[in-house]
Amino acid sequence: WAAAVAAVRALDGDPDARVLLICHVNPDGDALGSMLGFGLGLRRLGVRHLQATFPGPPEVPEPFRWLPGLELLVPADEAYREPDLVICFDAASESRLGELADRLAGPGRALVLDHHGSNTRFGDVQLVDPAAAATSVVAEELLARLEVPLDAEIAACLYVALTTDTGSFRFEATTPAVHRLAARLLATGIRPGDISREVFDTRPFGAVRLFGEVLGRARLEPAAAAGHGLVWTYATQDDLARYDQRPYVLEALIDSVRCTAEADVACVLKQVGAAEWAVSMRSKGAVDVSRVAVALGGGGHRFAAGFTGVGDVDAVVGLIRAELDGALLPA
Ligand code: 5GP
Ligand code: MN
Ligand code: MN
Repeated sequence: WAAAVAAVRALDGDPDARVLLICHVNPDGDALGSMLGFGLGLRRLGVRHLQATFPGPPEVPEPFRWLPGLELLVPADEAYREPDLVICFDAASESRLGELADRLAGPGRALVLDHHGSNTRFGDVQLVDPAAAATSVVAEELLARLEVPLDAEIAACLYVALTTDTGSFRFEATTPAVHRLAARLLATGIRPGDISREVFDTRPFGAVRLFGEVLGRARLEPAAAAGHGLVWTYATQDDLARYDQRPYVLEALIDSVRCTAEADVACVLKQVGAAEWAVSMRSKGAVDVSRVAVALGGGGHRFAAGFTGVGDVDAVVGLIRAELDGALLPA
């Protein structure tokens, strides 16, 4: 913590210091929320030259288009080339930073805030807490140590991050400390009902019908992992086109699939190229899916992980199936 505080405090004397905030590709609520919430905090500290960005197309998913701090965002190709400080949010490895990974090797310091067990310890200063429910937990603690008071704008960002990564306070990482943080955020006056509706409960009708089709083709393999069931489905780019939907709508699919009582492991394959799939995996506890993901070139947490799979659907599911027994956790 001391090194992280010092890295930010080092900017104090320099009104021209440039700070670049980055997060992982296809940013989710935690990546955007922790990055923008922290960015607003830096604004309050008087940092003037401040940009936030993420790799790939500069498109913010619809559910997050109301977040405070969006004005900090710039397209990746317009981001500072040689910032004095880079702060990276919610990325387990440099590969998750795409074309922005080179900023970590620049002349400025690189501070990494994250909570993935599979974090590869890149950057100069690491605040990586695998026990933290979200990167926003780490971000809030650093803001507190920098003596930045929480306001409703910062709190809205951090609350989005906290609720998305804890599945609205349902997952195991939802500790008393998480609820105390939620209480501090709510005390700023933010409206949890409005925020949840925007983030979780507002989708185009086409997305509802797309879910119907994609869930209708789900497959259950009752004995895939030493008797533990595997349930999976996939969504193609053509599915998205037919229902005129953006890729972000598929993020919630895994939550429907993983309900399956007969399966310990759930997977959703989302087509991102001709024979390329962004794979989401969830476990109910029998399998460490981050081991499966790491074995296949990805990463994540014990019970929520992902990777990019190459081949046709059956080939990618075959790769997963082959890793399951090796990733069984002790009963
Ligand atoms: P999701 O399934 O919600 O996209 O991701 C679940 C978890 O796995 C997240 O913590 C995310 O960071 C991680 N994850 C998903 N896809 C990848 C990937 O391709 N590479 C890595 N390293 N982690 C991933
Ligand atoms: Mn994330
Ligand atoms: Mn996260």
